[in-house]
Amino acid sequence: MSKAIRIHAVGGPEVMKWESVPTPEPGPGEALVRHQAVGLNYIDVYFRTGLYKSALPTTLGMEAAGTVLAVGPGVSDLAPGDRVAYAGGALGSYSTERAMPADRLVKLPDSIDFQTGAAMMLQGMTAQYLLRRTFNVQKGQTILVHAAAGGVGLILCQWARHLGATVIGVVSSPEKAELAKANGAAHTIIGNANLVAEVKRFTGGAMVPVVYDGVGKDTFDASLDCLAPLGMMVSYGSASGPVPPVDISILSAKGSLFLTRPSLATYTATHGDLLHAAADLFDVVTSGGVKIQVNQTFPLAEAQAAHIALEGRKTTGSTVLIP
Ligand code: NDP
Repeated sequence: MSKAIRIHAVGGPEVMKWESVPTPEPGPGEALVRHQAVGLNYIDVYFRTGLYKSALPTTLGMEAAGTVLAVGPGVSDLAPGDRVAYAGGALGSYSTERAMPADRLVKLPDSIDFQTGAAMMLQGMTAQYLLRRTFNVQKGQTILVHAAAGGVGLILCQWARHLGATVIGVVSSPEKAELAKANGAAHTIIGNANLVAEVKRFTGGAMVPVVYDGVGKDTFDASLDCLAPLGMMVSYGSASGPVPPVDISILSAKGSLFLTRPSLATYTATHGDLLHAAADLFDVVTSGGVKIQVNQTFPLAEAQAAHIALEGRKTTGSTVLIP
């Protein structure tokens, strides 16, 4: 038997239960993975609360790192003992063991430990596609990053600085501002009250070519006003709640803006895209351009406490659950 954090109904953190489940056999094309570390992500909150739908009961979680225990028929490029990590695909990473499609597993470089691996795959590949594909950030550009001291945020700040960009980071406290500054943000803004005026000040009135907004409802409108003409609004998450329906004519009125609502699933849908995103991430981490910050760990059995901390804006950087 394995252990897993499961939900039988959507709701608050209390719906998560630590239960025994049968350990699966790896089927054709699958590998059985023993998890050594599990990544905590905001999307786990969306599935727990029902903002994102899933059949119930289900095991939560989309990211982990661990060791291959066995492989099913037809799997030739993985073997028992291999160190692997993954992000995305079907729910189920809040567990001690699970069977995964082998082609969604990425071999972890020896220099990356399991906790770092579990912390970086989802948030790090997200930063990769946001900075390199959704909008290709160039040296010399000034960009705006919301929740800059969060999991995706700290990686975005460091990676964008590594690319030669100037980052304006938005956070909710002076402590988070210090952390964002220590990790690549050249300027920080505390709170959203004076967002547009502050961005105007930091850019000498030019505003920014791209906004990375994972906060959603509370920041969407002000984010649009921070863009230069032809700028790109990247609304990639809803930590404060989903963005209400948008009248697209405001994009023309505010300067022929572009708007996208991207997801990691699309950007890593093909095996080639997955391997490319992972390789780019491993490169920037092993070369020291980005340091993955695991600032909180919780026993997996205490996932409730981890969710309370994440939703209560008490975490910084990445959080890992230990099975
Ligand atoms: P974070 O570690 O960034 O935690 C969320 C942060 O959002 C908080 O720390 C807080 O920072 C900020 N926030 C602002 N308003 C609220 C609010 N009302 N309630 C809670 N938090 C708030 O989480 P992740 O790094 O896991 O994810 C960041 C965002 O990126 C999420 O929206 C997530 O869904 C999205 N995401 C999207 C992906 C995609 O492919 N589209 C993939 C991965 C993540 P502060 O206190 O400084 O305001």
